Amino acid sequence: MQYVSTNSSPEERLENILTQISSACARSGRDPREIELVAVAKNHTAEEVTTLADSGLTLIGENRLQEAKAKIPLCPGRLRWHFIGHLQKNKVRAALPLFEMIHSVDSTDLAVQINRIAGELALYPRVLLEVNTGGEASKIGFNPDCLASEIEPLLALDRIQIEGLMTIPPPIAEPENSRPYFARLRALRDQIESELHVRLPHLSMGMSGDFPIAVEEGATFVRVGTALFGPRQPKAQQSSQDD
Ligand SMILES: *Cc1c(COP(=O)(O)O)cnc(C)c1O
Repeated sequence: MQYVSTNSSPEERLENILTQISSACARSGRDPREIELVAVAKNHTAEEVTTLADSGLTLIGENRLQEAKAKIPLCPGRLRWHFIGHLQKNKVRAALPLFEMIHSVDSTDLAVQINRIAGELALYPRVLLEVNTGGEASKIGFNPDCLASEIEPLLALDRIQIEGLMTIPPPIAEPENSRPYFARLRALRDQIESELHVRLPHLSMGMSGDFPIAVEEGATFVRVGTALFGPRQPKAQQSSQDD
């Protein structure tokens, strides 16, 4: 199920999504200014991104480094880019200068590598830790049961700035089915904040099928692709695991 018909112009879809975010805020007593829409542009062209940028969009998400590297120079310079996909350790050096935030730091090894390369590049990257709230064996990300102990040494690293958590729930038939995973991410964040006396202000959760539920449960970033750009064209020679 989709909250937004893809049978309309990009401007109308953007407007519709922002309205849905506002309504979810009204239902849950939140301020819409706390939520940023990340427009997920994977498999969509620089022209499509530019059209949406003309309608006021400012933040773009990409999940493949090669695709982002090609697209970013063709898009308006005022756009900000967030990385939301699995990042291989040998791609960290290329990725860090391109992205304002990495939502998908999914292991201690990757966090340590980002910290090390950031030192060499004189950067202070902002990141979120990806949590496998669904507990699916096939999925990457931190185990929610171990996160509190695993995050502690990472918070002490000198370069990487851990600003919150991200999750991708198991595929759903009904938006409501995602709610327990979003609530779990928020509860984990609250627990870590109080146990370790840190601030983790950001929760990246919610996609086209369930972003209003994520907003009700405390999302500060929603990552919306299909509901904004329309269906993705599968790429001819896509090496999905390549980056
Ligand atoms: C593709 C993708 C999205 C957006 O998915 P839609 O269902 O098209 O909105 C969000 N987050 C991540 C990590 C993705 O890879």
